[in-house]
This record gives sequence, structure tokens and C-alpha cells, in this order.
Amino acid sequence: MKHVNTVIIGGGTAGLSMGRCLVEHSVDHVILERGQIAERWRSERWHSLRMLTPNWQSRLPHWQYTGTDPDGFMTMSEFIDHLEAYAESYDAPVETGTTVTDVQKRSDGRFVVTTNRGIWMATNLVVATEFSICHVFRNLLRMCRRISLKLSRPNIAIQRKSPKEAS
Ligand SMILES: Cc1cc2nc3c(=O)[nH]c(=O)nc-3n(C[C@H](O)[C@H](O)[C@H](O)COP(=O)(O)OP(=O)(O)OC[C@H]3O[C@@H](n4cnc5c(N)ncnc54)[C@H](O)[C@@H]3O)c2cc1C
Repeated sequence: MKHVNTVIIGGGTAGLSMGRCLVEHSVDHVILERGQIAERWRSERWHSLRMLTPNWQSRLPHWQYTGTDPDGFMTMSEFIDHLEAYAESYDAPVETGTTVTDVQKRSDGRFVVTTNRGIWMATNLVVATEFSICHVFRNLLRMCRRISLKLSRPNIAIQRKSPKEAS
């Protein structure tokens, strides 16, 4: 069993953003991802899809688009690169190929996170899986009110005006 302060489940935009924020506060953490970084963009989107939001809006904590086409729309592979570069920028501790299959809360308040590659023990838990593993948490949610639950929402910050308009 491995011990860590915070387990983040999901290596998409929300999980990576949370990881970056925890780095800022020197909180020991791990990001458990069933596939690869940005897995949904790799395997659950159609190939020709482009981001629906312009590049200048693709902002994450301590990360933003710096390319030459702020008013363009990233392709899927560009967006995957964008998220991979984000993870590299802070050496995100992502464990890929690691599927969370169960989460239990112990009487001492700590979380036992079971995966296909072993068990993690954590003081804090962040669920950044979007909608996919509600079944894993159903019992936990019934039992526990203090779960640190991160419900994924569109989490690329939206500015009302583009930088050009604002200046
Ligand atoms: C067609 C389409 C177009 C979109 N276009 C835009 C856009 O242009 N701009 C925008 O801001 N938003 C867009 N969105 C919304 C965007 O996809 C979501 O808001 C965003 O991806 C949510 O990020 P997330 O990190 O919460 O979830 P995800 O990106 O879904 O990441 C969740 C991660 O959790 C992992 N995971 C799931 N279950 C487990 C498990 N049991 N164990 C371990 N890991 C697990 C998954 O593999 C995945 O990598 C679009 C969505 C769709 C469907």
C-alpha cells in the first residue's frame, strides 16, 4: 500500500489543474489515470473535432495558450499536446494505466483507493473523472459527508473579453 496526502482521480483538465494548484501549496499528491493524460480527448472524441472555444480561452492554472493563433481553435491532437505540455510543465505525478475500482473511507477519516495496480491510502481525495465512475462512490457518498468531492465542470476559465478587446 502506498501513502500520499492527496489522491486525484482523473488526468484530464480538472485533475491536472488540481495537481498544479497542489504543487503551489507543496501538497504531496498523485494523479491516477486509467488511460493516458487527456484520455477522453484521445479515445472519446471524433478525430476531426476542434475545440469549441478559441485558443485564447484555453487557460488553466499557471498555463495558457502561447501559440501564434489565439483566435483559432485547437484540433484534438493539439489540445492533447497542450495538456501533455501542461503536465510536463510541473512534472505532474501521473500514474497512467491505473483504473480506480473502489474507494472506501476508514474510521480514521483516511481514504483507501483501490486500483488495478495496487492500493493507495490518502488523507484527501479529489474526484476529477467527470461523470464516469459514480458507481465507485455511491456507497461512499451515502456514508460520508466530508468527502472532498471535485465535481468536474467545464473548467477552462472563460473570460468575457478577449485580450485584444480588453486592451
Ligand atoms: C464534443 C465535446 C467538445 C468539447 N469542447 C470543449 C471546448 O471547446 N472547450 C472547453 O472548455 N470544453 C469543451 N468540452 C468540455 C470538456 O470536455 C470538459 O469540460 C472537460 O474535458 C472536463 O474535464 P475533466 O478533467 O473534468 O474530465 P475529463 O477530461 O473527462 O477527464 C477525466 C479523466 O478521468 C479519467 N478516469 C475516468 N474514470 C477513471 C477511473 N475509474 N480511474 C482512473 N481514471 C479515470 C478519464 O480517463 C479521463 O482522462 C467539450 C466536451 C465535448 C464532449
